[in-house]
Amino acid sequence: MPAEPPAISSSCFPLWREVNDVYIRSRFAGYYYLLTWALLWLTSAQPWQNLWVWGGGSVVLLTFFFLRNFSRPCKQQVAAQLQHWLRLQWTIILLHSLAWGLMLAGILYHPDIVASHFLVMLIVVVFSTALAFTYPMRMLPCALAILLVYLPSNVVKYQQGTSEIGESVALAIYLGYLGLFLYRWNREYRIGLKRELRLIQHSEELEELSRTDALTALGNRLQFNSLLPSWQANARRQNSPLSLILMDIDYFKQVNDRFGHSAGDLCLHAFAERMRQVFRRDSDVLMRVGGEEFAVLMPNTPLEQAVQLAEHFRNDLVCHPLQLHDQALPLTCSLGVGSYLPLSDDSTESFYKRIDDALYRAKANGRNRLELAE
Ligand code: GH3
Ligand code: MG
Ligand code: MG
Repeated sequence: MPAEPPAISSSCFPLWREVNDVYIRSRFAGYYYLLTWALLWLTSAQPWQNLWVWGGGSVVLLTFFFLRNFSRPCKQQVAAQLQHWLRLQWTIILLHSLAWGLMLAGILYHPDIVASHFLVMLIVVVFSTALAFTYPMRMLPCALAILLVYLPSNVVKYQQGTSEIGESVALAIYLGYLGLFLYRWNREYRIGLKRELRLIQHSEELEELSRTDALTALGNRLQFNSLLPSWQANARRQNSPLSLILMDIDYFKQVNDRFGHSAGDLCLHAFAERMRQVFRRDSDVLMRVGGEEFAVLMPNTPLEQAVQLAEHFRNDLVCHPLQLHDQALPLTCSLGVGSYLPLSDDSTESFYKRIDDALYRAKANGRNRLELAE
């Protein structure tokens, strides 16, 4: 069974899958070559003669056995590294095929070494078929590997004039069929890959949707609940500051009551847009965590910087009211701001609660103001 992709991005998936398939399918290849060579040796005319041929061949095959078994693909999904591994692996496969083709042709060439020409030709056919079946991911290198196994023995037989016309025609027809099979298996492999890729892309889109607020396109509460603990753990591990701003629009119910619910929706949308304009760093994550409640999670941001930005946002909203149907809508918000304190915030809840309490204090102290978490 091919390994299931770890949390994998769709951009790297086709290459990652190909690398895994080549690796898994290559693992046992070395055994087959060694076992077949042993079979040829044992069934040869005089197994105790020409030991240098059998021994030398075994050394070559053992070398490829180790090369193929011990070149593991990298775990990281980095396209350049995966490409590099694939190139290396195909080079080994091609050299292995060339060596195997020449070895089979070599023992055919010396009539006193091999007992059965039929057995050698059968092995040529079986190994060529196995190559097409095992490595249909890339047409050209696979076709080349097949030719490297197929041609040398056929050339020797042709040179020696030992092949009958019927046999030669049958072998040529089979090679043509193999080409067709390879084309078909390659297409099926690519189609399977595309299907899997589409599934991964769909699940990525669903994942994205499930974490996005439909009205404002900011992150939603689910995103907030999953980001906060992991970023808090990161901040503790790396000893880097993590700040959180919580904001709640003041008297928002009145906006709904005065202008209607859909105008209220437009207002929330405009508020989110204003957030995007002020909190512009790529690392800041903007979220809508409740009806008219918003959060900005700021990694690598000390408290002073977060306070400065939050205060700028509050002021900006006062000085430049949101526009609703070309009409200025004076709106304010209350804010609670705090930074993660590794010594006192022993849980995500306690970190969040400190800032939520600050927000409530901002409300209680008159609204349109910022309070620092204690
Ligand atoms: P406070 O200053 O104390 O926060 O007063 P408030 O009116 O903003 O707070 P309250 O909790 O009393 O009311 C929140 C309002 O937000 C009530 C609710 O109808 C409105 N609201 C929540 N979600 C949405 C939404 O998705 N769309 C609209 N239009 N209104 C919403
Ligand atoms: Mg409110
Ligand atoms: Mg509220």
